[in-house]
Amino acid sequence: MLSANEEYAWSILYENGEIHAEPLKAELNREVGKKISSILGKEVDFHKPDVVVHIDLKNDEVRIHPRSVFIKGRYRKLVRGFPQTRWPHRSCKGRGCEECGFTGKQYPESIDELISKRVIEEFKAEDTAFHGAGREDIDARMLGRGRPFVLEVIKPRKRKIDLKWLEGEVNEYCAGKVEVIGLEYGEREDILHVKSMKPPKIYRVRVEFEKEVEKKVVEEALQKLKNTVIFQRTPKRVLHRRADLTRERRIMNTKLVSHQGREAVIEIEAESGTYIKELVSGDEGRTSPSLSELLGLEARVVELDVLEVLI
Ligand SMILES: [Zn+2]
Repeated sequence: MLSANEEYAWSILYENGEIHAEPLKAELNREVGKKISSILGKEVDFHKPDVVVHIDLKNDEVRIHPRSVFIKGRYRKLVRGFPQTRWPHRSCKGRGCEECGFTGKQYPESIDELISKRVIEEFKAEDTAFHGAGREDIDARMLGRGRPFVLEVIKPRKRKIDLKWLEGEVNEYCAGKVEVIGLEYGEREDILHVKSMKPPKIYRVRVEFEKEVEKKVVEEALQKLKNTVIFQRTPKRVLHRRADLTRERRIMNTKLVSHQGREAVIEIEAESGTYIKELVSGDEGRTSPSLSELLGLEARVVELDVLEVLI
């Protein structure tokens, strides 16, 4: 319809010897932009609009698409036992069943949902999408200055919220399970940035040995792991979702924090992507060298925390 009219208009413009004519579409865009601008008293930004309005002349419809708002910050996970993002229930693949109380979820809570609840309410948004700079295991905490993330606020009906205030609201809702730090507005590009981060991390692990080990022996083994490259074949526990490859990973530093009989607390600084549980256990020889291998006995991680994401 528009193009037929356009052709007709063009023919008239040419007849009149007009040479600076523009396509009708651009003209319509400008006119609608001017009109909305005068009604709302706001400048039109064609480059990065907050809202895109689709005028469908054929179906006589107007559709409004609010552009996503992006919030970046860091999160701390203070309690073990829930994942970073929503997990569909394994048995029903998220459709909802009796076993999951028809929620479709494997875990009732996630970092994503805890943080998003108040954000969705305040922005009057449809949903959110959570993007973390990597993730920790479900049974691990994320301490220190936290882990960088970007939250995409999808179809928001409000766009400007005082993020300092919202941070307090989010943290109150998360009630000591999760904490957000330094929320600020970002851009879509921040997702790529956060996803491509490969920061080294410092971990603190509580290790259990199969029998008592002397402190000096543990210290010597840790010394041997310091500044070494280890070879890690994909751990058995993640083989169902990752390709079976051998990776080289650098262990920068190791430190014995405390030791008592069959237990020790150890700090490990390692390259991004190192599987720490397997660095301790050896994963039946799939990780080498490992603490277990160096000690010549079984060692396993009882508790793991990420102390710092070094970025
Ligand atoms: Zn289910």
